[in-house]
Amino acid sequence: MTEFDYDLFTIGAGSAGVRASRLAAETGARVVVAEEDKPGGTCVIRGCVPKKLFVYASAFKDDFRDAEGFGWTVSDTKFDWSRLRDSVQDEVGRLSHIYERNLKIAGAELIKDRAEITGPNSVKLIGSGKEVTAKHILVSVGAWPHFPEKVAGIEHAISSNEVFHLEQLPERMVIVGGGYIAVEFAGIMNGLGVDVTLLYRGAEVLRGFDLDLRAMLRQQMENKGIRVMIESDVKCIEKNTDHFTVVLKNEKEIPTDLVLYATGRRPKTPGMGLEQAGVALDSHGAVKVDAYSQTTVPSIYAIGDVTDRMNLTPIAIREGICFAETVFKANPMAMDYCDVPTAVFSQPPIGTVGYSEEDALKEGYEVDIYKSAFRAMRHAFASNEEQIFMKLVVDAKTDRILGAHMMGHEAGELIQALGIAVKKGVTKAEWDATVAVHPTAAEEFVTMREKYETPEMEVDHTGHHARPRLGERH
Ligand code: NDP
Repeated sequence: MTEFDYDLFTIGAGSAGVRASRLAAETGARVVVAEEDKPGGTCVIRGCVPKKLFVYASAFKDDFRDAEGFGWTVSDTKFDWSRLRDSVQDEVGRLSHIYERNLKIAGAELIKDRAEITGPNSVKLIGSGKEVTAKHILVSVGAWPHFPEKVAGIEHAISSNEVFHLEQLPERMVIVGGGYIAVEFAGIMNGLGVDVTLLYRGAEVLRGFDLDLRAMLRQQMENKGIRVMIESDVKCIEKNTDHFTVVLKNEKEIPTDLVLYATGRRPKTPGMGLEQAGVALDSHGAVKVDAYSQTTVPSIYAIGDVTDRMNLTPIAIREGICFAETVFKANPMAMDYCDVPTAVFSQPPIGTVGYSEEDALKEGYEVDIYKSAFRAMRHAFASNEEQIFMKLVVDAKTDRILGAHMMGHEAGELIQALGIAVKKGVTKAEWDATVAVHPTAAEEFVTMREKYETPEMEVDHTGHHARPRLGERH
């Protein structure tokens, strides 16, 4: 008989917690996972998966236009929001069920209850009032939308959590923020026929990404009819009888039917009992961990968005794998955060891996820049001027490719493959030795020969990144 009820108590059945728990249970460990919502976490329930389905739905608007150019007669297109919303929720339910089943197959127990930490080895289940002990506790409760407190009338705004369940689509919508969620939903809603205004407080959307990509994306968003207002700070949101008015600090007023705030997310640690148990948190409430995801209490670990390291699903999953290897397979494994490819499902989408030009300069590299912008062949016959943009950042001294960036159709798919080459540290000469695939847009990546003469660039040395920071380069 061991001294604890379980070997592992995981709090939160999202991407991170489920992967870690399954792997731990497969070693024969006694594992239990507590989840107060549907299993699946942000990615499956209110993030990546339903968002991507919305992106597919909204992209048909442009596809219909392109089809006309290729000789099709597309008439009488109608969109039914409730059908899309309900189909997406059915799919979310199906995937959540798979998450639950996979835990069971691995031999882990799932408890549908809220769990709070009461000590280094103890957890209380709030619904049942039961106290449970475990040798290890894993915190994987994710993050939650954050609303700025100082905006009067902020209670009238919704977050991306609610946007998946709207009763009906608004005619007009204001989106506040310039990060992943803001630009993705601006594209989705615009594609679905909503009149979208995006308000961003800074000078260019998607801070932390390559500046050329950011500027190109904003231009394309504006071409599609999205009103992007940069350097726009909200003072208050007023509720009127049949609409809202968003008032900016410069007193400009924007009437709208819905306000979506996408101003970042905060770790879901309040009320978890972490600090009382001795677990240190940072100023935003993120759990502080070492390279092996161990907190300041040796028996408690934390992985995924709750640690606010690099808030992406594949990272959460890998942190889960590293945790299971380290704690349950006696194989200490630290996560490698270097050269992580990522996509923003804006319209057009963005794919990026490695250093932006700005980051490379900031790190002291001397860089050669290659870039190309052109109209996609698929838009050739339609009055669709959508651009594709590609850029390579190359270390001028070693010829190594430091970063690859793309905006355009299927950029996410392409960057996954390019990520292998960048991660492997290939040189531009090796990259160019790859024969082009013709006719594709992607061939441009291996045929860019002319160095771009970059005007003297001002480097921001604040070290402030919206995009997750790059890990140490080996
Ligand atoms: P982000 O951190 O990406 O962006 C937040 C945005 O809100 C920034 O533009 C920021 O401006 C702005 N902002 C922050 N505070 C305020 C404020 N008080 N007033 C006005 N604007 C403000 O967060 P998101 O909510 O878009 O996304 C959350 C996380 O989810 C991200 O970390 C991302 O990693 C992840 N995600 C990933 C996706 C993907 O992989 N495709 C898709 C969606 C989300 P500023 O730049 O000036 O700080």
